[in-house]
Amino acid sequence: MAILPITVLGAPILRQETKPVTAVTDELRALADDMFETMRAAQGVGLAAPQIGRGERLCVVEVEDQAFALFNPEITERSGKIKWEEGCLSIPEVFGWVERSQWVKVRALDRNGEVIEVEGRDLLAVCLQHEIDHLHGKLFLDHLSFLKKRAAMAAWEEEKVKYPEGLRILTPGEDDHDEL
Ligand SMILES: [Zn+2]
Repeated sequence: MAILPITVLGAPILRQETKPVTAVTDELRALADDMFETMRAAQGVGLAAPQIGRGERLCVVEVEDQAFALFNPEITERSGKIKWEEGCLSIPEVFGWVERSQWVKVRALDRNGEVIEVEGRDLLAVCLQHEIDHLHGKLFLDHLSFLKKRAAMAAWEEEKVKYPEGLRILTPGEDDHDEL
C-alpha cells in the first residue's frame, strides 16, 4: 500500500465529474487500499478519487469502526437536517458549517463488485454526502452562503502558499483535524 499525494483546491480534477466504474478490478481494489492508507495518514474520515488525482467514481469512508470502499455510490434515501462544521483534506485548515441530511441511505458496489446499501446518521451521513459530492465535482464550500464562502476563500488564500505544486504530501502520523 502507498500514501498518495492529495490534490488541493485549485486542481481542475476536483471540479470534474467522475466516470462510473464498470468493473471492480484488482487495480481498483489496490487503489481503494491506497486511499484508505492515505486517508488514515491524514487523520481523515473520508477520501474521494479526485482527491488523489483519479477520475473513477470511488470513495472511501471510515467513521468510528465502520469502513467502506464505495464504487458508484448514490444516495437513494435521505431524511432530517443536521449542521456540521466540515473540513476537507483538499482544503486544509479551512472549515465551514454545512447543512446536510441527518440520515442517508447509499447504494454502491463494494470491493467485490456486489451491490450494497449503507445507512449512515450524523457524522457518517455527513461524510457520505461530502464524499459523494466530491464524485460530482462539488466541494463543501459550495454549500456555504456567499459571505461564509468568501471568508473561507480568504482563509485558503493564506493557506494555499504551503502547496505550491497543488499537492499535499503526507507523512504517516501527521496530526490533523477530522477532515473529509
Ligand atoms: Zn473533501
